[in-house]
Amino acid sequence: MVANLTSIRDDFPILNQKLPNGQPLVYLDSGASAQRPRSVINKITEVYEQYYSNVHRGVHQLGDRVTTEMEAARTRIQSFIGAAAPEEIIFTSGTTMSVNLIAQAWGRHFLKGGDEIILNEMEHHANFVPWQAIARERGAVLKFIQLTPDGRLDLDHYQCLLSPKTKLVAVTGMSNVLGTINPIAEMAHKAHEAGALIFVDGAQSVPHQPVDVVSSEIDFLAFSGHKLFGPSGVGILYGRKSLLENLPPFLYGGNMISEVHLEESHWASLPARFEAGTPAITDAIALGTAVEYITELGFDAIQEQEHILGEYALQQLREVPGLQIYGPQELIQRGTIFSFNVAGAHPEDLATLLDRKGIAVRHGHHCTMPLHQHLEIAASVRASLAFYNTTDEIDALIDALDFARKRLR
Ligand code: PLP
Repeated sequence: MVANLTSIRDDFPILNQKLPNGQPLVYLDSGASAQRPRSVINKITEVYEQYYSNVHRGVHQLGDRVTTEMEAARTRIQSFIGAAAPEEIIFTSGTTMSVNLIAQAWGRHFLKGGDEIILNEMEHHANFVPWQAIARERGAVLKFIQLTPDGRLDLDHYQCLLSPKTKLVAVTGMSNVLGTINPIAEMAHKAHEAGALIFVDGAQSVPHQPVDVVSSEIDFLAFSGHKLFGPSGVGILYGRKSLLENLPPFLYGGNMISEVHLEESHWASLPARFEAGTPAITDAIALGTAVEYITELGFDAIQEQEHILGEYALQQLREVPGLQIYGPQELIQRGTIFSFNVAGAHPEDLATLLDRKGIAVRHGHHCTMPLHQHLEIAASVRASLAFYNTTDEIDALIDALDFARKRLR
């Protein structure tokens, strides 16, 4: 553990436990959902015990307090991603909702027949299917950036695909299967040179590396609370103010209007225009606490620790007979997400046997069917690490893989 993370595991009560089968938990599934520190759990209790009520409505003292807390969370998240104004931060239910919001609000309004959207095969279904659906509805065309043999985006091909027809590039900051870290600032710059916008799926990248939406020229950024050491059911859509201001609402109802008449209504200004109905109030506030926690740890320490873990995991996994890791083989191009298969072992059997040893991993297509088709596999096992994991846990994974391989032989 790097110096200021030595007692980090004490912050995460769930990690220090024995499972019902007596094995100590080794949690290697943070890519699916990370765990949350006690400060986040305490914040949730604080809200419900002390000042829960609806937001942006009551003049009573609880209403005032809860609104202040939620807006403080918004401001914290704004500075966490380097956004220019709090109104650019929209609370949604998660990455999926954020993608759908822009695909629908922007796509319905701005896409027309023959326009092009650039995607690629490593995208999670959340940053794939909504674009597919709106493209079909509007008669737009999808173009796909080729992948290199080691699972990176082929940037020369990307450059070739960009043209005056390109209206939007949708790309993940970090692949949830390959671990590939995509060069977002460079891609954004190229998209803008072609007159297109860029939508970044930050579900996997935002929890592991600093982001600055302004210097990276990101137009839209989506991420989820539950992968960012915060609550589930809440997430963020960042949108550049000049873009969001020109979009029609996506959901209609309370809170998103300025005036309602019998025949027509007028919309509230940002961010309320995109926050119809009662939001996930407590979770939004606690997401602010998660962001505060990460900010206090600092990405320098987080990245140093994840680098140590990543190098060790790559080195150890490579030694396992018959094991193939997908994606870049060098840590410099990837994060600490390792998807693999072991020759002769079905991923589900492998994951089940690992669980017997207390190792929590995920198996399946990880919501990336096009990528699995590209890799010509039906499924894979995924170990995804966060800063609270240890090299001892990687050793436990390797021992458990040995146990599983012997069982499946
Ligand atoms: N994008 C990526 C890269 C993901 O890994 C995930 C979740 O696994 C999502 C989007 C969807 O996130 P959510 O289910 O929180 O909306």
